[in-house]
Amino acid sequence: MRKIVCDLHAELVRNHLVAWTAGNVSGRIPGEDLFVIKPSGVSYDELTPEAMVVCDLDGNLVEGEHAPSSDTAAHAYVYRHMPQVGGVVHTHSTYASAWAARDEAIPCVLTAMADEFGGEIPVGPFALIGDDSIGQGIVATLKGHRSPAVLMRNHGVFTIGATPRAAVKAAVMCEDVARTVHISRQLGEPLPIARADVDRLYDRYQNVYGQRSPR
Ligand SMILES: [Zn+2]
Repeated sequence: MRKIVCDLHAELVRNHLVAWTAGNVSGRIPGEDLFVIKPSGVSYDELTPEAMVVCDLDGNLVEGEHAPSSDTAAHAYVYRHMPQVGGVVHTHSTYASAWAARDEAIPCVLTAMADEFGGEIPVGPFALIGDDSIGQGIVATLKGHRSPAVLMRNHGVFTIGATPRAAVKAAVMCEDVARTVHISRQLGEPLPIARADVDRLYDRYQNVYGQRSPR
């Protein structure tokens, strides 16, 4: 899991989702009440599997030479309250954060959004770093929602997945559709997709599409 999480941080850089040391990926260790997360303040080109840190589900450091990411409490809260989640990603990616800064959900106006998010990408509450409030906002918004991504108001994006890789994919797709819908807005008012069609697209993509390998 240290290697998986380390390698996925390179995907954040490759997909232009992060600047400087902002952003982080974590992965639950299967069968354990533990997860692996990025260390705080270490630059992306210095990340190695050994530099990753292991925390318990209260966010306490269990193993590692560095302090865990400053977002560790939010990740831990998600793992505690959403047992199906195996990976969490946080970024301040540009277009998605621009929507978050306006407290505006990204409307479902693209079939790719219906596929991946099953509707709009919702906005979570404003919350300050330092306690459980970011985690609470993520869980309250995503529980009962099909979207694996939430735009935290005035902040950035958190995504979840069954695996860390699935959460990274959601972060990449979130930024992609945030950019496209923003550009569409410059041209006029994007057209919503009917709810029944959103449901059909989501069901097909989630259950039929692809090679049936774990996503
Ligand atoms: Zn942040």
